[in-house]
Amino acid sequence: HPKVQEAVRSTRGEVLAYKGELAEAVYHAYCGGVTENAADVWGRSFPYLQSIRSECRLGDTPPTWTYHIEANDLARRLRAAGIVFSGAVTAVEPADLSQTGRIRTVRVRTGEGPREMRGIDFRKAVGPDLVKSTRFTIEPEGDGFRFAGLGSGHGVGLCQHGARAMADGKAGYREILARYFPGTAVTLSSKVKKNNQVRLVNR
Ligand SMILES: [Zn+2]
Repeated sequence: HPKVQEAVRSTRGEVLAYKGELAEAVYHAYCGGVTENAADVWGRSFPYLQSIRSECRLGDTPPTWTYHIEANDLARRLRAAGIVFSGAVTAVEPADLSQTGRIRTVRVRTGEGPREMRGIDFRKAVGPDLVKSTRFTIEPEGDGFRFAGLGSGHGVGLCQHGARAMADGKAGYREILARYFPGTAVTLSSKVKKNNQVRLVNR
């Protein structure tokens, strides 16, 4: 796409930095109105990855999603992800919520007692394109469970729908990055120390 090529060309050599080091410029599709603290997703805090309000542009993307899964299918997927238990999944419930209402810890009740796992690991095990975010409720439905959620992705860093809304309002990329990654600066890559060990997940 010519516009994308132009954007890549015109920002060549530029990176996002925090205090002279390369920043973790993570993003997600759609936060649903408020982004998430990195610490509540990955257990590690970053000064520029804190929860902020985001005016997301809805466009054609529904803000909410629902997903039904049979209990047998859920058990199979959890086992495939290495969560070991015998018998059926009898209930799924939030064990711990973040300040923004996303599920930090999921409790899965099984024939062998409860199993707890991080919300992002549960989402990954079941299918991140089906359980689109960790901001959801769970209810029994038929022989399984019904998830009803808001947003898409982990919610940390830049919200693509929010960035789109700012761009529609004539904000430039520096302004957009400054909003979603407060305290960071667009810098030439030649001026940045490349000693970062952390690589967070863009999803
Ligand atoms: Zn958003």
